[in-house]
Amino acid sequence: MPGVKIVYPWQREVLWDLCLRFIFNRRFGWRKAANLLAGMLQSITLPERAFARPAKLIVEPANRCNLSCFLCPTGRKLSGRGQDQLDMETFRMALTPLAPYLYEVYLYNWGEPLLNPRLFEMISHCSAENIRTVVSTNLTLFKPAMLDPLFSSGLDELIVSLDGASEESYSQYRQGGISGQFCVILSQ
Ligand code: SF4
Repeated sequence: MPGVKIVYPWQREVLWDLCLRFIFNRRFGWRKAANLLAGMLQSITLPERAFARPAKLIVEPANRCNLSCFLCPTGRKLSGRGQDQLDMETFRMALTPLAPYLYEVYLYNWGEPLLNPRLFEMISHCSAENIRTVVSTNLTLFKPAMLDPLFSSGLDELIVSLDGASEESYSQYRQGGISGQFCVILSQ
């Protein structure tokens, strides 16, 4: 009978990168580190049954967007999924059993995370569990009043997605924004 090889999403280079970043991170914890090492071992030995817990989680706070970029199925409402936002209770339920092992949570996927009014609460919840957080946003909904909750949430990395090098190229792709938004974002 031919052997069956199970392919895991754990790629060795990703794990090395995670380990290096983990060691120099303020979120370091022994249980999380042990889980990362277990994941590395798993990626090498390829056991039939996984023994490492997830080290990284991708969460979609909102699967809708205030813009409608040309190549984005979410913005163009072509994804075939209903558009909604994640509620706090579901988020907690998903995170709680994994939290002791999680190294990092991405709080973005398809959609604009700032559309979820509980986003900062989600980040704070991860911070309290000693989990690194990353948010990627188009920043068009950002208000000065959000600065304090953003800083106090403990966010580790903020990615601003511009998709343009000038007001002209930006507004060609970033459909649905307001005129002059490129400069506003750069000034923030
Ligand atoms: S800003 Fe991002 S999520 Fe929104 S429409 Fe553009 S690519 Fe899609």
